[in-house]
Amino acid sequence: MTTVLVLNCGSSSLKYAVVEPDSGRQLADGIVERIGDDGGVPDHEAALRTAFDELARAGHHLETLGLLAVGHRVVHGGPDLYQPTVVDDDMIETLKTLSPLAPLHNPPAITGIEVARELLPDLPHVAVFDTAFFHDLPDSASAYAIDRDVAAQWHIRRYGFHGTSHQFVSQQAAEFLGTPLASLNQIVLHLGNGASASAIAGGRPIDTSMGLTPMEGLVMGTRSGDVDPGVLVYLWRRAGMSMEDIETMLNKRSGVRGLGGQIDFRELHRMIDAGDDDARLAYDVYVHRLRKYIGGYLALLGNTDVITFTAGVGENDALVRRDALSGLAPLGIELDEHLNDSPARGARRISFETSPITVLVIPTDEELAIARACAEVVG
Ligand code: AMP
Repeated sequence: MTTVLVLNCGSSSLKYAVVEPDSGRQLADGIVERIGDDGGVPDHEAALRTAFDELARAGHHLETLGLLAVGHRVVHGGPDLYQPTVVDDDMIETLKTLSPLAPLHNPPAITGIEVARELLPDLPHVAVFDTAFFHDLPDSASAYAIDRDVAAQWHIRRYGFHGTSHQFVSQQAAEFLGTPLASLNQIVLHLGNGASASAIAGGRPIDTSMGLTPMEGLVMGTRSGDVDPGVLVYLWRRAGMSMEDIETMLNKRSGVRGLGGQIDFRELHRMIDAGDDDARLAYDVYVHRLRKYIGGYLALLGNTDVITFTAGVGENDALVRRDALSGLAPLGIELDEHLNDSPARGARRISFETSPITVLVIPTDEELAIARACAEVVG
């Protein structure tokens, strides 16, 4: 048996999983939360030791797991880092210089890598970047229409995120349909707490909704997605908000929570049923933006074969799926409400068999995708 330990470090949490890349079997997973909080563990090193203890208690001892590598999810690889790569000291230095591009996500990932390298010095550590899949977006999709010298100097482009998930799910969709990836035009909707959409032509992404940072695009749990950049300037100039305040508001107090006071869609639906107007508005804005992206990507692809929903909301929320695609039969999307409503799990079709565009639900598995990328790198 060979396995990969997959780590995903946030500022206050550490997610871990032990995955067998060949079979796809997940032997164990868990999350250590409240890092640095009262009542939690003091730091990331203690969190990783806690994860090891939890694994040992479940009978998984590091020495006998057949670990091949440790895979680290890294959100932003900047302009030059995108292939899954074995971590060395130089890479850590490069990653540190990239932290301003992803101030919420990259610093805890770097801490996680440093701590894990200390505790598991004999294993290769592989960084797998969320931006990788979108590295070769066409220029027309990746460039912002701003002063090109400024953009070049500061490496400003649309990088895209959740790439591991978009790639994995689009491959799974091809497998599910028994059609070569190269002959499918796909739209993937990754709707979790973070949310992003991608248009994929023959396995290659031609657009995605996230940009320089994971703030652009769809409405998310706590992030605004697209806003007029004028809003930022106005708040800074007129309301006297600092850039830090504005960033925090756009990341943490916007999106579904900002409008509806709630992040979990199950709760949001309950509030709507109880007549809560704020929750209704949050939901309507969310669905409106989603439909706008779907329509945009249908136009970019010209001829779409499959639309796939994934992640927490996409996999579980039949109402979001219905409202995102209702009334689109003239565009070739014929959702089967009965299939859509079924509480089934696993990869499944939710459109009529005769629908020109097939609609699927496919569970994402970023841990498996990271484990497979690691296994490929370390051989
Ligand atoms: P993720 O980031 O992929 O883990 O997605 C988390 C989000 O999925 C939660 O905040 C919920 O809004 C949503 N979610 C999870 N389970 C359900 C469910 N059964 N019905 C609707 N939404 C769900």
